[in-house]
This record gives sequence, C-alpha cells and structure tokens, in this order.
Amino acid sequence: GCDCKRVFKDNWLLIATVVSVVLGIGLGLLVREYGKLSNLDKTYFAFPGEILMRMLKLIILPLIVSSMITGVAALDSSVSGKIGLRAVVYYFCTTVIAVILGIVLVVSIRPGVSQNADDIDRTGSTPEVTTVDAMLDLLRNMFPENIVQACFQQYKTKREELKPTDPNKNSTTDKNSTFDLILTAEETNQTKEYKIVGLYSDGVNVLGLIVFCLVFGIVIGKLGERGKVLVDFFNALNDATMHMVQIIMWYMPLGILFLIAGKIIEVNDWEIFRKLGLYMATVLSGLAIHSILILPLIYFIIVRKNPFRFAMGMAQALLTALMISSSSATLPVTFRCAEEINHVDKRITRFVLPVGATINMDGTALYEAVAAVFIAQLNNMNLDVGQIVTISVTATAASIGAAGVPQAGLVTMVIVLSAVGLPADDVTLIIAVDWLLDRFRTMVNVLGDAFGTGIVEKLSKKELEQMDMSSDVNIANPF
Ligand code: ASP
Repeated sequence: GCDCKRVFKDNWLLIATVVSVVLGIGLGLLVREYGKLSNLDKTYFAFPGEILMRMLKLIILPLIVSSMITGVAALDSSVSGKIGLRAVVYYFCTTVIAVILGIVLVVSIRPGVSQNADDIDRTGSTPEVTTVDAMLDLLRNMFPENIVQACFQQYKTKREELKPTDPNKNSTTDKNSTFDLILTAEETNQTKEYKIVGLYSDGVNVLGLIVFCLVFGIVIGKLGERGKVLVDFFNALNDATMHMVQIIMWYMPLGILFLIAGKIIEVNDWEIFRKLGLYMATVLSGLAIHSILILPLIYFIIVRKNPFRFAMGMAQALLTALMISSSSATLPVTFRCAEEINHVDKRITRFVLPVGATINMDGTALYEAVAAVFIAQLNNMNLDVGQIVTISVTATAASIGAAGVPQAGLVTMVIVLSAVGLPADDVTLIIAVDWLLDRFRTMVNVLGDAFGTGIVEKLSKKELEQMDMSSDVNIANPF
C-alpha cells in the first residue's frame, strides 16, 4: 500500500511550511502586481509575519537561559570542558574552511573585475564603527554590567564627528533618539575629532547571557545538594519553554506566508540584482559547496552516518532560517529538530546550539571574505598574499562578532574592509542585495550548528555513556 498518509503525518509541519512559502511568493507577486498598497498598507499586510517574529524572539530568552544553565549543570566540569573544547575546535575549523572556500571562489570567478565601484548606486547609510570599536564591543557584550539589561540591550559603539565650530552641538539630542547616551570620550585625529558614543541598541545581548549562564550553570552544578533546587527549577523552565516552542510551530506556516509575501511587495529595486548578479552567484555557489559538499563530508567522516538524512531532519529549521534571516530567532526550531527528529543527546544540544547560533557562522564568514575581495576588485585594488591572509583572519573574527540577527554580517564587514584599507563606506555597494544573501548565509549558519551537535555528540560518546552509567549507580544506591 501507499504510506503517503504516514509520510504526511510525520512531516505535516514541514509540508505546511513549504506550501506556505509557495503560497506566500504567489500572494506577494499578485498583490505587488494588482494591489497598489500604500506603505502603511504594506505594514498591515505583513502583520501576521510580524507576530511570528515576535513570538520567536519572545521565546529566545527563556530558551537560551534554561538550556545553557541546565546543559552545563548536567555535566561535571571535566566533561563540559572537553565537550566545550570539541565544539570550539569544530566551530573554528569549519569557519576557516568556509573562508578559504570563499576566497578561492571570488579570486577565480572575479565578479568585481570588469565593473567599477561607481557603476553601482550607493544606497543606505554607512555604519560608523571601526575595527577596534567592533572588537571592544564584542568584549563589552561578553560582560554585561547588568544581567537584566542584557536581556534586551546590546552594546554598540558609534562615532560622531565633532564640529569645533559648533560648540552648541549636543549629541544626546541627535537623530537617534531611541538610543541612550551612556559614555563619551574624545579622540584626536590629525584632521577630525571624534566623539566615541557608547550606545545600547535594542536586541538581546545573547553573548553576555551565554557567558553568564555558562558560569552560573557550572557553579550550581558544583553546589551539589544545595544547588539542586536551582537545577530543578531551570530544568522545569526548559521543559515548559520547549512546550511553548511547540505552540509557536503551529502558527509558523501562517506567519511565514505573510513574511515572505510582505517582503516581495516591499522590494522595489530588482535591477540591482542584474548588476550584482555575478557577485551573488559567487556567494551562493560558495554557500552551496559548503553545505552540500564540505559539511556533509566532515559529518560523514566523523559520525559515519548519512549526512543528508541528518540535514533533512533539520529541514524545518533551515527553512525558518531562510525565511527570517536570524540564527538566534531560529534557535527554538533548531532545538526541536535536533532533539525530536535527529535525536541528538540533549546534554549536547543545550550546550552546542546556543553558543553555535551566536559565534559559529560559516555562511557569514564565507560571505564576508567574498564581499571584501569583491569590493577590492571594484576599487581596482590588487590584493597581495598578506592582504588575503588579513581578510581571512578578520572575516573569521567578524563572523564570530556578528550577532545572530538579520544583516549583522553587513555591519561587521567594516572590520574586514578597514583591515585592508578599503573604504568602510563601500559596504553600501552591496547593501541592496544583502537582504537576500543574508537569508542563505543564515541557513548555512544554522546547518553548521546542527552538524556540530551530531559531530560533538559522536566525539563525546564515551563521556556521555560514562555519565549514564554513574547516574544509574546513583539511583540504585541509596547512599
Ligand atoms: N543573519 C545572520 C545570522 O543570523 C548573521 C549575518 O548577518 O550574517 O546568522
């Protein structure tokens, strides 16, 4: 007989999501053609999608906190150290491979060589940060000065040019009225004076929370009997959170339909896609090679199981990442796929996924390397080996520093550009197509995290089994 029914039953959510993507694209094209919506109407139209994003973002905070704390507390510190080290080695190696792949492609395809930077319209505004600022922000974010504040604010530095002729200029009343001014310093440059403005931008400081929860988890794990009440509390919180994720998943197809339709009616410059076509093809082929060839190969060599089956198990998460371009907001779905479908040990996912979503970004690293070389080509700049190495190193750093939110990679691009002396303003050359590339690199970021759970689990088999055995002894033994 046909087991279509069973296939449908097992995969209904995935099927519903794929159908809603297709319907969303269709609806978007229709409304675009015949709708004549005003800008306000467009916002109303995308409203169901906005609600989905809000729900996913809402659940990130309890999810990260409870999974990190219980994940670390469940392992004794020697084991968590080993697992952590393996995860970091995996993150690092795959990121570097992605960068090298990107460089090889962009140097051989040379998408920017025949073009000129002036042929492409510069759109959007320039991010006002430098390499040093970006690095320092990364460190600042690791140590939030207030854990409650870290739940909704992230540190971002901004530079403002000081105009000595205008002593009445007051930076707190500037255009960015949503930002709070918290620190000022002055720096003298030969020609310009800057004020370094410390800002808190909105968005969860995931990195700061992770660092805090990591240490907190280790500490309550070590407290033994006295810490048990806290461990139990966070375990219960984690279970409750995962049930709430299940509820969100029910809403997901509807939300995604309007998210994609809303995006399609919003884009108005399709011409730019033709101009930047070869650049986009370079990025996309790099992402494809990394996710279809390289990551599966690494997974197969280490785990000895079918990598494509594993990737298919992650399909819902990958599709979500493609639709919402944020690794952090995809995290709830990534968890569900890894644990419920691929059956990766929870002690591994709780640890590897939140950290991975924040620092392991293969797609972003590849993209930053390609984009930097592309911009150099547009500027007719010949890169020597030293500069290529500099781009590779800074692209790796920039991908670690990028938060798992939409288009974060575009901001950290400044680090890469300024490291080789390219004008930071030139990120504006690629802004117009970034929203599309962002989706695909986010998908690869999530895939990299997912394979990481399978690989770290396999490498940690011995420790995990030992722990299972010793906890059995504890249960059997009344002492
Ligand atoms: N949007 C990406 C992510 O969330 C980061 C980036 O902009 O590259 O993973």
